[in-house]
Amino acid sequence: MEPHAIQLIVDEISASTAAEQDRGAVARYIPGLASISPDQFGMAVVGADGSLATGGDAKTSFSIQSISKVFALTMALGKVGDQLWTRVGREPSGNAFNSIVQLEAEHGIPRNPFINAGALVVADVNLSGHMPRESIGELLRFVRYLADDDSIAIDESVARGEAETGYRNIALANYMRAFGNIRHAVELVTGCYFHQCAIAMDCVQLARAGRFLMLDGRQPDGGQVVSARRARRINALMLTCGHYDASGDFAFRVGMPGKSGVGGGILAVVPGKASIAVWSPGLNESGNSQLGTLALERLAEAT
Ligand code: GLU
Repeated sequence: MEPHAIQLIVDEISASTAAEQDRGAVARYIPGLASISPDQFGMAVVGADGSLATGGDAKTSFSIQSISKVFALTMALGKVGDQLWTRVGREPSGNAFNSIVQLEAEHGIPRNPFINAGALVVADVNLSGHMPRESIGELLRFVRYLADDDSIAIDESVARGEAETGYRNIALANYMRAFGNIRHAVELVTGCYFHQCAIAMDCVQLARAGRFLMLDGRQPDGGQVVSARRARRINALMLTCGHYDASGDFAFRVGMPGKSGVGGGILAVVPGKASIAVWSPGLNESGNSQLGTLALERLAEAT
């Protein structure tokens, strides 16, 4: 599809979502998210040809939250390769993203790297050989490299809010530590996890950071981030596990690999064609962006 045609579709989607009445509810568990206006909507589509189409608040930064799990997973796979799968599964969980119940029956092995328990194991892997500050810095540098944008930063007030209210995540990490599946001190692992959730990006930066997933593991300049096989597998996990316990419904409605976060962002990938970021802070009852999901559904239908 011509870049110009994509821009027209993005314009149309941005205008139609602006008129939507039902915008969902913003996440309320920390002040840094509760104070965001639900009136916002942004969208950016980066094509495999390098084109960029944007709509709405595409240049407004938001908390990427669980979308960071994609970048942290990519880094952990780079460090330990398929060894990771001895500590984390690859099945949709069918449970809430922060559920502890499944962990007991499954002996401390989280279902997949995109639920909180799995992301905590991934953070533990990325912490190996590092102080927490270095591990967070390494992830931030990786995201900046992917997006080709050194201005990307962590929102410290969001990170603090996560730490102050993160009882469940701390419980999950302790529980897995009891099974030997968390190897570092729990407060170090959760500290890294809370900071990765607090990375702030806008839609253009996020869509750029997802380019390697549409380009068989490569950056647009040819730099190999991961093998084509690994990019395919990360996309497969996003398709099956990327939207909490509504992953099946998202796949049914949108049909693209995607990962959402409670900040209202979604990164979606059309392999070989596009890397897409949408953001609208109001969430549906499953914790996924209400208008973001709708926008991706409309984009899929229009293209
Ligand atoms: N940072 C939050 C948590 O771990 C939410 C992450 C998300 O699902 O976007 O509880």
